[in-house]
Amino acid sequence: MKYWLNIDKSSKTTKLHKDPCRFCKPHNQSNKGINGLKRLGGWFRFKTIAEAKTYHKNHHPEYLWHPCRICTKKLEANL
Ligand SMILES: [Zn+2]
Repeated sequence: MKYWLNIDKSSKTTKLHKDPCRFCKPHNQSNKGINGLKRLGGWFRFKTIAEAKTYHKNHHPEYLWHPCRICTKKLEANL
């Protein structure tokens, strides 16, 4: 299983996606990184939801935790 966490600095949210998802588009951009933060944030890859949650708690606790409604719907009990 593969999860992507979209850290978005402009909206101060972290959005969790389960790969594949049509709204999950991790690619390196000038203002958004992959597994690293840039000016507007970045995409981080995790093997489990728990790891993603821990990252969120340790690095961006002030950001909203926002699981993607499309791809994580069936997982909501675990979020
Ligand atoms: Zn998604």
